[in-house]
Amino acid sequence: MSWMKTTKKKLSPPKANLFMDKFMEQGKRMTSPLKASYTLIPNQRYRRSYRRSSKFNKTLDADSLSLSTLGNFRMLPLELFHMVLEYLPVKDISMLSMVSKTISNRLINYISSRTGNRRLLLRDFHTPGLLGYRNGFSILEHYRSLGLLLKRCTLLLPTKERLKYIHNVLSEISCFKLNGCLDPLHCSGLQCYGVFLQMLTAGWDELECHRVYNFLCDLTSLPRRVQTVVSSKPGSARKLELRIRIFCRSVLLNHWIHRSDSAFWLTRLLKPWPMVNQARLLYIIFGPASTLDGHVVWQKMIDNPTDETSLKGLADAIKLLYDSEAKEWTADDVISLVDELSVVPREWLLENSVRLLILCGNNICFTFMASKAVNGRVVELARIIVFLALVCEKDLYCMDWAVKMMQKVCKVFGTTGERNNFLQSVENAFAHIIMEALQSVISGEHDEEDRNFVNLFHLVNAQANFHKEILYLTMSNRM
Ligand SMILES: [Zn+2]
Repeated sequence: MSWMKTTKKKLSPPKANLFMDKFMEQGKRMTSPLKASYTLIPNQRYRRSYRRSSKFNKTLDADSLSLSTLGNFRMLPLELFHMVLEYLPVKDISMLSMVSKTISNRLINYISSRTGNRRLLLRDFHTPGLLGYRNGFSILEHYRSLGLLLKRCTLLLPTKERLKYIHNVLSEISCFKLNGCLDPLHCSGLQCYGVFLQMLTAGWDELECHRVYNFLCDLTSLPRRVQTVVSSKPGSARKLELRIRIFCRSVLLNHWIHRSDSAFWLTRLLKPWPMVNQARLLYIIFGPASTLDGHVVWQKMIDNPTDETSLKGLADAIKLLYDSEAKEWTADDVISLVDELSVVPREWLLENSVRLLILCGNNICFTFMASKAVNGRVVELARIIVFLALVCEKDLYCMDWAVKMMQKVCKVFGTTGERNNFLQSVENAFAHIIMEALQSVISGEHDEEDRNFVNLFHLVNAQANFHKEILYLTMSNRM
């Protein structure tokens, strides 16, 4: 065992050496059967002697029974057992906890002890670079191992008791609290808490995960805080918005390996609220944020065309909910949510809404447009087609994708009359939007001139490329 070497090296005073010599002897005897069998069954010889003594003492002492499951560790006083643990990696301690209930109880004692606490509950969340490796060590990895250790140590407790115990262990770490850190933007505390929880709850069924969510809600008053931010003016509680965003992302959403888990936790966050609030909360958690202070940028979608980076978080979240893994969401729910999102906090530029649709992928984009077609919102739909072409032109997507999307949407209209009306509306929309752009070039302020002109330039090119694709499609079919 590698930890024995470490103990030998580090304890140099003579007294300690004396102890170590004895301990090594003990250790040698102790390790050999473990290596041979690998099942960690307590030594038979000791068992037999206990049975014999029970003849004389009929009330078999529970303590001595549990001592027998300690194996050779029962020779060690508790302090020395703790000293040994100091030299074991956390992963190995968590392996050790599975040996027996008694060992596991001893480990629980160790975790709650001052030495254990100091060693296991690392708190340097604010040192830059700690998330990466330093001497082969990362604080994130440490908390992942600690999650496994506490999962194993509390295996026999009911979920509520488990959570209470674990909360007690972690309760002194202020950076694990929603509102506890003074500099949440540069703190890795909540991320560590997130991987810890991920490890702890891995493999738990939905009912238990519901309990975890409810427990966290009680602990952090998350629902009350969410209520505050979704019902007040966007940006009026900026600090709280930031706290909620970081807590939800770092603790509840970021660390899952399976999409079904991510969908489950996002659903827990959103489902209790009406659609309007869901959209607002989605924007707080995944919308664009300032790189300087981390605050949610509420104007981003309203004033100017935005970039894909600002929309990617929202698009990924919407895709997750649309996924078949998200059982509690119908396609209609998701489409309504997208619709609702495009007016948070006020109506977005259509270009930004369409950019989001494109990032959401073919299925969501088509379903969104088809629902407009079914509801007879032809003019709105025609404008969306124009902006599909514009975004394809600006963001360098293949224009034939936009044309094919229009073709598909066309088929949603039942009659030739309706289809022709729609195509006519698309051409009208191109004409209107280009005229509007021209108007703003002519009447624009000096500092806006360039931007307006570039926009017009892209629109004209978008129209040309869009129609080129249609010509290719129709002409090559006829020849
Ligand atoms: Zn912190």
